Amino acid sequence: MTTTAYTSTIRTRIAPSPTGFLHLGTARTALFCWAFAQHHKALGHDAQFILRIEDTDEARSTQAAVDQIIEAMDWLELNYDEGPFYQMQRMARYREVIAQMLQAGTAYHCYASPAELDAMREAQKARGEKPRYDGRWRPAPGKLLPAPPAGVRPVVRFANPMDGEVTWNDTVKGPITISNKELDDLIIARPVSDEAAARGETVGTPTYNFCVVVDDLDMRITHVIRGDDHVNNTPRQINILKALGAQLPQYGHVPMILGPDGEKLSKRHGAVSVTQYRDAGYLPEAMMNYLARLGWSHGDDELFTSAQIAQWFDGTHLAKSPAQWDAAKLNWVNSHYMKQASDERLAALVTQQLLSRTVEVAPAEGAAAGAGEAPTMVAAPITADARLPHICALFKDRCDTTAALATWAAAFYTTPQRNEAEYAQHVTDAIKPAIAALADKLATCPWDKASLAAAIKETLAATGLKMPQLAMPVRVLLMGKAQTPSLDAVLELCGRPLALERLQKA
Ligand code: GLU
Repeated sequence: MTTTAYTSTIRTRIAPSPTGFLHLGTARTALFCWAFAQHHKALGHDAQFILRIEDTDEARSTQAAVDQIIEAMDWLELNYDEGPFYQMQRMARYREVIAQMLQAGTAYHCYASPAELDAMREAQKARGEKPRYDGRWRPAPGKLLPAPPAGVRPVVRFANPMDGEVTWNDTVKGPITISNKELDDLIIARPVSDEAAARGETVGTPTYNFCVVVDDLDMRITHVIRGDDHVNNTPRQINILKALGAQLPQYGHVPMILGPDGEKLSKRHGAVSVTQYRDAGYLPEAMMNYLARLGWSHGDDELFTSAQIAQWFDGTHLAKSPAQWDAAKLNWVNSHYMKQASDERLAALVTQQLLSRTVEVAPAEGAAAGAGEAPTMVAAPITADARLPHICALFKDRCDTTAALATWAAAFYTTPQRNEAEYAQHVTDAIKPAIAALADKLATCPWDKASLAAAIKETLAATGLKMPQLAMPVRVLLMGKAQTPSLDAVLELCGRPLALERLQKA
């Protein structure tokens, strides 16, 4: 029988199933598991965080999902010390443990057919009982089992204790006790398939709860932190671990993340995969900060770095009640980190954003349409230039995401979308002579912020206008809208040719 001696080592794991992309809830659990290991490392303890891919659902698991999970973990810098381990590569080990359990009598073959089990459950329901496996194939002293029916390949069931209860002190929910009477003899291996039988195998595919147990045992997991959608699995897993003579890990079940409507956060509420947030222009440190606060607290702190999470996260202060996803708060957190980010870093991220957008341009010479025909416009990616870090510096304060920042930046590289209502309100016939007067000055003045400010001031003095009367229409002409950073700074970044071209469109 496999037994593993525990030391004072701390070992946590995240065990995503690659049936979909890394969900925000799983990312948050990963963050807690990572932080707990980091916390102990910093205290000088031996601590590891492990990535395990639970890919036994062959029909629904995909390599694309595995890749995306790893990509998302990397992006959040949730660095794992061991793994990724793949359950599909550990089948021989699970079968080995099942064989040991069959020998030890903690598991047994059950030959009951699906029809028989249905009839059993119907009869139980008719008697007003809770449907459960009645142990008909479970060996017991003095019990005479029927001869295995010919041609039936059995499942393997775990011989769950008949009496007593399972109790654990959940690090999030507190003490939990489940009576063993509530627990069936769980199927731990399905019937062997025809092909596997032909290969001489006798134990079929091991089931989910069983693989988790063997992995947690073999990987010497000391702390299982996971979503509370798994809380029903825990008493079963504990019983199997006990049957294997293992020391139990500590369990902590964190409540689900809810959408704004109070339902479990799902695709219905919008993006739920971590990389979608990356692509939508969120910074990894903002995601880490926001996810950590969903269900965990450190005093009244709202803003903290990953290093601080690791320093403070000792597995306590996890909320018992579910947290609600708050997109506005995430935006607030992200805008905080955007202000902190260097202009060069933002420029690199905005470049990525711009490359994913396209602009309609005339085709290259030579590829033109036939004589007299208008050329068909083609889509090209938006390319930035050396001004981009300066554009980021000027606009980052007013942006929640790098995607929003990219929209501002794009206004320097492509024709911005014009706010028609603002255009009609501000770019009036009455103001056009003043715009032309400003354009005249801009045609010759030196191109630096102070000279541009002077040109604006002189135009105001000459026309008797107030700053907003001139600045608003000029902003609409330059950037498509009336609210922008200070006009001299925007003009400077536009550069003379572009500024004049846009002002002439008045
Ligand atoms: N594979 C499970 C999931 O994706 C996690 C199981 C566990 O943490 O024990 O939810």
